[in-house]
Amino acid sequence: STQDTVIEARGVSFAYQARSGSAKTPHVAVRDVDLTVRRGELYALLGTNGAGKTTMLEVLEGHRPAMAGRISVLGGDPSDRRHVRPRMGIMLQDSGLAADLTVRETVALAGAISGRRDDVDKVLEHVGISHRSRTRAAQLSGGEKRRVDFAMAIWGRPELVFLDEPTTGLDPASREALWSVVDELKSDGTAFLLTTHYLEEAEKHADRVGLMHAGSIRRQGTLGELTEGGVSTIRFVPPE
Ligand code: ATP
Repeated sequence: STQDTVIEARGVSFAYQARSGSAKTPHVAVRDVDLTVRRGELYALLGTNGAGKTTMLEVLEGHRPAMAGRISVLGGDPSDRRHVRPRMGIMLQDSGLAADLTVRETVALAGAISGRRDDVDKVLEHVGISHRSRTRAAQLSGGEKRRVDFAMAIWGRPELVFLDEPTTGLDPASREALWSVVDELKSDGTAFLLTTHYLEEAEKHADRVGLMHAGSIRRQGTLGELTEGGVSTIRFVPPE
């Protein structure tokens, strides 16, 4: 039913304005994309570097305004700070944590801003970062920072979570820990839109995938539908 639809995008396009210099034509990074994500569903955007995955995610989460098309997220506009944004969690590639805040302060502050309720110690425990609770962000490893970013995204169990390459830079045990939290929230009805370069993660955890190339979703469906002989048969660049 339409009540179960958390993201509905039709004909969405986005172009980056050319910087001052020789080329003045805008760079079209997302081109006429249709995409639907339902409650409790995990949708993974796949594609080579520069395909438009991050841009698509940033348009759908309301960070960049679509230049064409229609987007409905949780029944409203994704940039709506009153009715829509408090119900979503977002983990981008570079969160830029405040260097001087501790892990605990960072997550508690982001949680307060989100407007959702949760217990900071439980959330830190949940994502496996509680042993670094009093460490300042500047002292964390890259993988530890990613876990803090993830903690902020899942704080208060949002209805919809956006994750941009959530497991890039994580060691295998941390990747597995992150996925077990995602699967748990998903079984509670949380929807996910994420990007990844790890096909085996998409194969194991995504309900549907979209293969992006040059700003378009060229094929979408279950990974099984898109591959006959396993994920190694995926071709990102369609034959000319
Ligand atoms: P990756 O796998 O490397 O993260 P991606 O699929 O997420 O790539 P995007 O980051 O969305 O791709 O980039 C899509 C296109 O838009 C690329 O051609 C990129 O060069 C361009 N682009 C991205 N960010 C900007 C920007 N801030 N200004 C201008 N062009 C940009």
